Amino acid sequence: MQHIPYGKQTINQDDIQVATKALKAPLITTGPVTKEFEDALAEYCDANYCVAVCNGTVALHLASLVLLNRGDKVLTTPNSFLATSNSILYVDAYPIFVDIAKDGNIDLDLCETELKKDPKIKAIYAVAFSGNMINQEKLKYLKEKYKIKILEDNAHAIGAVYNGIKSGSCTNSDISIFSFHPVKHMTTGEGGAITTNDKAIYEKLLSLRTHGMVKTSNMKPWEYHMTALGYNGRITDFQCALGLSQIKKLPNFIKKRVEIAKKYDEAFKDTILKPLYIFDGKSSYHLYVVKVDFTKSHISKVDLYNKLREKYNIGLQIHYMPINKQPYYVSLGYGDENTPVMDKYYEECFSLPMYPLLSDEEQDYVIKSLFEILNG
Ligand SMILES: *Cc1c(COP(=O)(O)O)cnc(C)c1O
Repeated sequence: MQHIPYGKQTINQDDIQVATKALKAPLITTGPVTKEFEDALAEYCDANYCVAVCNGTVALHLASLVLLNRGDKVLTTPNSFLATSNSILYVDAYPIFVDIAKDGNIDLDLCETELKKDPKIKAIYAVAFSGNMINQEKLKYLKEKYKIKILEDNAHAIGAVYNGIKSGSCTNSDISIFSFHPVKHMTTGEGGAITTNDKAIYEKLLSLRTHGMVKTSNMKPWEYHMTALGYNGRITDFQCALGLSQIKKLPNFIKKRVEIAKKYDEAFKDTILKPLYIFDGKSSYHLYVVKVDFTKSHISKVDLYNKLREKYNIGLQIHYMPINKQPYYVSLGYGDENTPVMDKYYEECFSLPMYPLLSDEEQDYVIKSLFEILNG
């Protein structure tokens, strides 16, 4: 069997055609296609405004520049890619790692306990882990009661819908971000986007994406004013052309992922493999996570991982190593938080291959191989 990674992009001839066409246009960056892509994204997720940027990490950085002040404390999850909490550090604010709930998302009840204790907590950075949106009722309650800022890191969750609320709609948050890295639902090579419903936030983001520059009608025609310390977060028009082509296919991509999830759910029913959650109509499935209690299995997690890779050519991935236990974070004094659910989850979890091009045959092969090793 050919190598089966845990995730990969779906790029077809028509995607290549539109990107090639955009490369022949007079403007290849910050041209009209970027705006067209932003409008398509805003419409897709029911948000008023969208700013496309060069990657999801930059989306988080610019969002943090807008939402946070130096010294603010921010509740966030240890179960994410590094960029979520790094973006808090970029602006000299302090992440506080809160344990996760059973579904892999930050535990919002524990967030409330922290909010009651410390008025310096100004925001929650919540990640819709694996494509499963944050509980919107609780988010709304915390936002209103404690007057905090909310950022939803929806890098895993484009296309997810929670009781009619679309991911990225910012219905109960100030800002949401997406990533278009090739392993995510849709890709622009590298790329990201920020959505918001707040015009002032939108205008700040636009300016921060281009060095903090602003132009207004009362300036001389060649003038621009730098009003904040911004960055270069721009994305090219040929990437956005690819993005426009990909967003049209997104419903289909998600449908394929859900089909795979349902197949895995069915195959693992009443076995040693415990899905993180069973499909309930909400997740858009960036990841399919299963858990095994390795204390009760004849094989360790490392041996399962290695054997699948070496003997079966299947690439598992682990999402995630707890961020608070990363060496850099430990050097800042993190690592001893009370996060028993996360710690146990990390012992047990792994992500299975899931992407639109994963064939039926390959899905069966993944399932069969897992049982062969775990029952063997
Ligand atoms: C991928 C990802 C990011 C970062 O996005 P890039 O485009 O790779 O910079 C941030 N947060 C989460 C949860 C991600 O999965």
